Amino acid sequence: MYCNKIPDKPVDNEKIWKKLDDLARANSLWITAYGTGCGAIELRPLHTSRFDMERFGIAMRPTPRQSDVLIISGYLSVKTLKRVIRVYEQIQDPKYILALGSCTIDGGMYFDSYNTINILDRYIPVDVYVNGCMPRPEAVIDGFILLMKKIKEGKAVGWKRYKENLEYYRKNQREIIRNWDLPDYNW
Ligand code: SF4
Repeated sequence: MYCNKIPDKPVDNEKIWKKLDDLARANSLWITAYGTGCGAIELRPLHTSRFDMERFGIAMRPTPRQSDVLIISGYLSVKTLKRVIRVYEQIQDPKYILALGSCTIDGGMYFDSYNTINILDRYIPVDVYVNGCMPRPEAVIDGFILLMKKIKEGKAVGWKRYKENLEYYRKNQREIIRNWDLPDYNW
């Protein structure tokens, strides 16, 4: 049926496209396949028919250039932090970080270790934390659903936070990484 009703307000095309873009993006999340801690083992069952992550449009990709999501799958060692920064900065915007396990929140059982990162958000911007030691696949899926919701609402903005506060993140990263040889800006 043809509708000739003239809208009261002018149509904001940019806003509509942004909404559509967020909707499409939220339903097609590609993960960089890179495990940092024990939690990587809980990602394997997500591929199986029992949990079937692909029904949500979630898939693994072999390189950061093809991905939207980086999962920090548990404790992050000081040595691995440098690689994680390198990988994160190579993912194109907009990009998201899902952090699994208590270790990413406050260090977990490694809270007083000389060798692990305690509060991940001081070094790279986390969009969603999934707590537990280790979170089960159901909890990881729950984390993805929360991430999708945040993307649709325009609230998954860790990548913007990172750019706007790059000086803060770089300062914290350099305090940990002694042999700093990363480029100033990696993307
Ligand atoms: S939260 Fe538990 S399972 Fe996860 S990395 Fe830490 S110790 Fe390992």
